[in-house]
Amino acid sequence: MPDRPGPWAVVVNPTKFDDLAGVRARVAAICADHGWPEPAWYPTTEDDPGEGQARAALAEGATLVCPLGGDGTVRAVASGLLGSGRPLGLLPGGTGNLLARNLKLPVDDLEVALTVALTGRDHAIDVGEVTWDGGEPAIFLVAAGMGLDAEMMASVDPALKRRVGWLAYAFSGLGAVLRLGFGVRVTADRQRAVSQHARTVLVANCGELAGGLQLIPEAALDDGKLDTVLASPRSVFGWIAIGVDILSRHRRGHPAFVHLVAGRVDVATREPIEAQLDGDAVGRRTRMAAVVRPGALTVRVNGG
Ligand SMILES: [Mg+2]
Repeated sequence: MPDRPGPWAVVVNPTKFDDLAGVRARVAAICADHGWPEPAWYPTTEDDPGEGQARAALAEGATLVCPLGGDGTVRAVASGLLGSGRPLGLLPGGTGNLLARNLKLPVDDLEVALTVALTGRDHAIDVGEVTWDGGEPAIFLVAAGMGLDAEMMASVDPALKRRVGWLAYAFSGLGAVLRLGFGVRVTADRQRAVSQHARTVLVANCGELAGGLQLIPEAALDDGKLDTVLASPRSVFGWIAIGVDILSRHRRGHPAFVHLVAGRVDVATREPIEAQLDGDAVGRRTRMAAVVRPGALTVRVNGG
């Protein structure tokens, strides 16, 4: 790392901030304190949630691009930086911050996060690439899934989500938990196949999939593998039991919890099931093909 960073950029989702001018002033003040140049600011739009802005920043010579918004902004900016080798810096953006949590980066202190972004070291992480029903590929940094989690995300009131974060998912999901599961077939690396009735299928790039909830403690962002879990509790009580097992990290061998580790995962459901990408609902789908792109994204992490 150079002592002073070169030109850098912030891709901001203006709808996430009530006082954007105040945020910009804070960033400018922190930069001034440390002798850094101010960033170029790129607001996201409804049509382009960040990918085009990230590409534009690269074209303008940015040596670092920081998304400032929710997990959707992080995913879009990462899409624009993929394969460029130029780092993404994570700044706290309200709720979520799932990638930052998985990288053990600060999620509630702008100054500390900005310092890591500007002075940390570069670390290459894997990215998941998913195709739904044979459509255009999209990337995920945390997880893609079908079923319960996606249903919860689809039904969450955005205002509630903004206020209470991932807890909103839990509240909105109470009804969904009680409904029946679905028939699903999951194939890992085109070899091992599992067919069963499941309540949720999650293909994860890392282990912490909600604030403070380590679903797959052994999953790593840089192991070149995706971790897939199928959870199929028989009742709401079974679901709660799995939740307890996950939290206590003693869920191994639980009959209602299947865990596959692979570079490619194919999921087929018998009927269209609500799907999600890093927490954003993407509608009902029946086929999901996910592959890992090892080390495709560079991020700034602690340690100069
Ligand atoms: Mg992994």
